[in-house]
Amino acid sequence: MAVIISGKEVSARVRSEVKAECEQLKSKGICPGLAVIIVGDDPASKVYVNNKKKACADVGFVSEEYALPAETTQEELLALVEKLNHRPEINGILCQLPLPKHLDEKAVINAISPMKDVDAFHPSNVGRIMIGDYHFLPCTPAGVMEMVHTAGIEVSGKNCVVIGRSNIVGKPMAMLLLHENGTVTICHSKTKNLKEICSNADILVAAVGKPKFVKGDMVKEGAVVLDVGINRDENGKLCGDVDFEEVEPKASYITPVPGGVGPMTIAMLMKNTLMAAKIQNNIE
Ligand code: NAD
Repeated sequence: MAVIISGKEVSARVRSEVKAECEQLKSKGICPGLAVIIVGDDPASKVYVNNKKKACADVGFVSEEYALPAETTQEELLALVEKLNHRPEINGILCQLPLPKHLDEKAVINAISPMKDVDAFHPSNVGRIMIGDYHFLPCTPAGVMEMVHTAGIEVSGKNCVVIGRSNIVGKPMAMLLLHENGTVTICHSKTKNLKEICSNADILVAAVGKPKFVKGDMVKEGAVVLDVGINRDENGKLCGDVDFEEVEPKASYITPVPGGVGPMTIAMLMKNTLMAAKIQNNIE
C-alpha cells in the first residue's frame, strides 16, 4: 500500500504560507497583483482562470482579468501585455493558453516582461532554470517538487524517469530532478523500450496526457509515482496518466487524480506572484 501524497493538503499549506507573507507585505504598503489574460471562450480555460482569480482573493492578492474576444488581433494582445508590463502595481502577468489559432503564442510569451512572467515560460526564465539560477519555476513541475519535499523523498542518486517532454511539464520537470542530483531519463512518444525504462525508475513522473497510460507492469516495486495527467476516462470521470488501481499497490508513494498535482499548480502560481512582488519591491 502506497502513501498517498495529498495535493489538497500540500497546496493548502503553501497557500496559507503565501497568505501570511502577503499580510506582511501589505503592512509595508505592498499588495501583490496578478493580471490574467484570456482570449476567446474555451470553457476549460475559463474554469482555470476563475480558479486563479479565486486563489488570488483567498491569499489576499489583487487580480485583474482581461477577457478578450476570440477575434482579438495580435497587435491588440501585445499592446495589452506592454501596458501591463509598465504598471508597477501588477507584479505578475499570465496569458491563459492555448490561444486561438490566429494568435502567435510564442510572440506573446516573449512579450511578457521576464520579471512578471509568473508562469516561467519566457525563454530567459527557461534558460535560467537550465543553469539553476532562477526566480520562478514553472508551476506544475514546481508543485510536483513541493510534494516530493513535503513527503521527505530523497531524489539524489535515484533513477528518475519522466514520461513526456513538453516545454511546460516534461522538460522542466526533468531539469528540477537533475538539479537535485537525480539520474534522469526523459521518455516521449518515440521512445522504444518505454516499459523497460519505466520499470527501472525509483521515481516515475507521468506527463503524457493519456488516461491510465502507466500500468502496473511498468512500475518497480516501491517506486515513487507522480501523476501530472488530467484526463477523462471512458465514463467521463477525471483520471490521471497512471492506472491508480494497478499501480498503487506496488508504489511506495503515489499522487492521486484528482487531488494530487492539480491543486499544486495554482498554489505555486501564488508563490511565484508573491516572489515577483517581493523582487519588484526590492524585498529580500
Ligand atoms: P503534451 O501533449 O504537450 O505532451 C505530452 C507528452 O507525452 C509529449 O512530450 C509526448 O512525446 C509524450 N507522449 C505521448 N504519447 C506517448 C507515448 N505513447 N509514450 C511516451 N510518451 C508519450 O502535454 P503536457 O502539456 O505536457 O501535459 C501532459 C498531461 O499533464 C496532460 O494530461 C495535461 O492535461 C496535464 N497537465 C496537468 C497540469 C496540472 O496542473 N496538473 C498542468 C499541465 C498539464
